Amino acid sequence: MEFVLNEYHRNTSDEELIADVKRVAGLLQQESLTQKEYKQHGAYNPATIARRFGTWNDALKKAGLVLERVKLYKQHKYCESDEAFFEDIRRVAQQLGKSFVSRNEYEEYGIYASGIRQKKYKGWNGLLKAAGLEPTPFRTGPNRKYTNKEIFEEIERVWILLGRQPKYIEARNGGLFRFSETVLCNHFGSWRKALEAFVAYINSDDDNDKDSQTEPTETIEPLTNNAEGITIRHKTNRNIDLRMRFRVMARDHFKCCKCGKSPATDPTVILHIDHIYPWAKGGETVMENLQTLCSECNLGKSDLLIDNE
Ligand SMILES: [Zn+2]
Repeated sequence: MEFVLNEYHRNTSDEELIADVKRVAGLLQQESLTQKEYKQHGAYNPATIARRFGTWNDALKKAGLVLERVKLYKQHKYCESDEAFFEDIRRVAQQLGKSFVSRNEYEEYGIYASGIRQKKYKGWNGLLKAAGLEPTPFRTGPNRKYTNKEIFEEIERVWILLGRQPKYIEARNGGLFRFSETVLCNHFGSWRKALEAFVAYINSDDDNDKDSQTEPTETIEPLTNNAEGITIRHKTNRNIDLRMRFRVMARDHFKCCKCGKSPATDPTVILHIDHIYPWAKGGETVMENLQTLCSECNLGKSDLLIDNE
């Protein structure tokens, strides 16, 4: 917590504060000013100035300066041709190793201003489609409401990818998560609370909650084993839900039980959950009968089973 000289600032007029903001902008010969820049050269605490006028941008406006956000947009060049623009989006996608690029990611890594073309192609996803990329998996915008399940699935995906708990800084830096850390923080209150909610969900066995009911469920039907004519009646569903999948993978340290490969050390590795004793033969979907396998080992195993059957 920063020490603020309250008495001193209380006696400083609005005009004095704004005059000092202008002075620093002039000193640095800049149209705009970040709080960090002001802090180095200004006479007052930038947080105090921001509070006094509402936000830092409000103070900049009062001082007749360019807003920070606007300044950021100005750095993007106008692009003459659609093809050059698409080329640049594809470059960013490749750089990030993704099949899509979010608007925020493009603003950070792209070189062109996107506003006009977003209009032309009816939104960001239309633009991605025209560039031959996939749409962003999550709709964006201030009114977009995410379900807990969507967020938990995303945390799970990243957690498995890293083979460990994701860090706040990784959510903030972008690239890993498909949505910004503010989505997580706004939804749950904070990054920590989002992780706590995820862990509580994983650990819970409550199937009555709203989210799990929306999952597609396979009806449990008795199966006939043709070879021996024995009817198998399953106690569990073949479907492995997010919670069980995560629990099995966490138990197996997010690694293939056969060859030890993991996405954390080799991003091309895809992990699956496998029934050790096949479900078709009466194996149940319970922790003890499940294991983590990479796609290669899992494929090898199915072939073997087909041979046996
Ligand atoms: Zn393997």
